Amino acid sequence: RAKGAGRGRFAVFDEEMREQALRILDLEADLRRAINSDAFIAYYQPIVRLDDQLVIGHEALLRWRHEKRGLLLPREFIGLGEDSGLIEEADWILYGRVIAELARGGQGYISVNVSPRHFRSGDFADRLLRMIEEAGADPRRLRIEITEVALLDDVPRALRILRTLRNHGVLAQLDDFGTGFSALSYLHRFPIECLKIDQSFVAGLVGESRPESIAVVRAIQALAGTLGIHTIGEGVETQAQRLILRELGCTYGQGYLFGRPAELVSGEVRIPEGVADVIGADGVASNVA
Ligand code: C2E
Ligand code: MG
Ligand code: MG
Ligand code: MG
Repeated sequence: RAKGAGRGRFAVFDEEMREQALRILDLEADLRRAINSDAFIAYYQPIVRLDDQLVIGHEALLRWRHEKRGLLLPREFIGLGEDSGLIEEADWILYGRVIAELARGGQGYISVNVSPRHFRSGDFADRLLRMIEEAGADPRRLRIEITEVALLDDVPRALRILRTLRNHGVLAQLDDFGTGFSALSYLHRFPIECLKIDQSFVAGLVGESRPESIAVVRAIQALAGTLGIHTIGEGVETQAQRLILRELGCTYGQGYLFGRPAELVSGEVRIPEGVADVIGADGVASNVA
């Protein structure tokens, strides 16, 4: 009898697995179709100076407007897209949108997320630069966000890509910093404009793990200081977090406190009056040494 019940359970389990597999296949087929439609959209989230909450730029975040499931977040489809290579295609669609947005004018920079897979293709930098040039956009207003994985996978290649982009004005910021291998000894070799402190540490600043989070942020700030670069605190949700980050020496922040990611009507990515001091006459933020 127990045996029968056991078998029954397995049958249910198998059925669930089968359904999940089908759901994934379904979504992958949808993703393939979405590539050829207007289903991918860029959401923009402001990045501000912590001192006075002045907007200095935006991060573009990928959204998929699924005909049946509604608006999907990257975590619901990026893994899937990464396995099939589809996420790279979705990314290029997004980069095209962002670059077109930049070409329309406005101020401040827009950063785009670059998955480590892009760094494995030989012509990532050239393709991005060609896109910028063809659109007539200012390369200094585009930034890329990469993770440490992209750097350490193949160091000479990553260096080549980052140098090529930087020589043309496209700066790089290191995303989710503190969660990866943080091979600190390598960091000074890369042309990195700033470190984005991972939101887990920012969240920790006001929670139970406050002392540990403060210690991590201190260490990151010390490192950034040595490298002569700035930091951006990610996932800032409260004034308390903003103030502690600022206290610890973090210059910029991003998070719901300052603005949620949102779709913008074309040409709306604008920096408010008065930001000219931060951005500089040439459209490049003053932290661009
Ligand atoms: P990320 O690059 O670290 O982006 C920050 C994530 O934190 C975004 O999630 C953003 O919506 C979220 N966030 C911002 N402020 C807050 C806050 O105050 N509290 C909380 N809890 N979350 C906040 P999102 O848009 O879901 O993106 C998740 C990840 O997906 C991104 O992490 C990035 O790694 C990846 N991603 C997003 N867009 C793209 C893309 O166009 N291409 C690629 N390859 N990856 C992307
Ligand atoms: Mg990012
Ligand atoms: Mg991040
Ligand atoms: Mg993150």
